[in-house]
Amino acid sequence: MTTSSSADATLCPYTLKPISSIDKSELAVINPEESECGHKCSLPHLISYIHDASAGSTHSCPVCLQSKVTVVCDGNAADRVLRGEPHGENDAQERVVCLRYGPIHYYLSLQSTSSRITATSCALSRIGVVLGVDIKHGMKIIHNGKIIYPDKTNNDVSEKILSISSLDIAKKRKKPSLVVIGIRKRQLYSQGSKSNAAAGVQGVIFAIVGMLTPRALWSNMSWGIGWTINTTKSLLGALYLFAKSMLYPPQHRDE
Ligand SMILES: [Zn+2]
Repeated sequence: MTTSSSADATLCPYTLKPISSIDKSELAVINPEESECGHKCSLPHLISYIHDASAGSTHSCPVCLQSKVTVVCDGNAADRVLRGEPHGENDAQERVVCLRYGPIHYYLSLQSTSSRITATSCALSRIGVVLGVDIKHGMKIIHNGKIIYPDKTNNDVSEKILSISSLDIAKKRKKPSLVVIGIRKRQLYSQGSKSNAAAGVQGVIFAIVGMLTPRALWSNMSWGIGWTINTTKSLLGALYLFAKSMLYPPQHRDE
């Protein structure tokens, strides 16, 4: 953490804004436990960098380019996770969820400012917003090999998520117990308009391919083959007539 204290004066490698100007909930602290890393940058950009690139590749810290990114905390969660405190010092409502998404361990703080929102929806929505995954369609949370979200019988999963996370942090477990699965809505943090356009074109192509069911494909193909046969037939027929006319010229004059 020696470098991170001085790193606050530096700029985020993605947004080129001063680290100190980034809201703590939007700030990523990379590998806070590693003494040579603990670097900071924009959280949404880091997540796009890690998860939207080619799958299976390892990602190094965008600041030092040396440490492999394994743990990502948000600006509020980092210190608490290091101290093993799942709750905030001043506000017991300010809690931290921890989870695994892909190869990365995430520690995310929940804001208690909006009192109307229950902890339940708060925990789920925070996970969904940060990871860019639709919590109602496609997101799954797994604990000890069992799917705990979505849950048909019990909607109040967030309390479960929070208590599991609290235990992980208090016991300083190396790996968060919760595993989140879900495909990112990539368009949120695409690198630029170009890649957006490319994604759009790709989408259209996939839509067209999707429309071409095997049946439609077959009818198109058979139409093509039929056309070829008919053309060949008429061509051969013309040649035959031509050859015939050469051998037996039509005798119009006699009639
Ligand atoms: Zn680093």
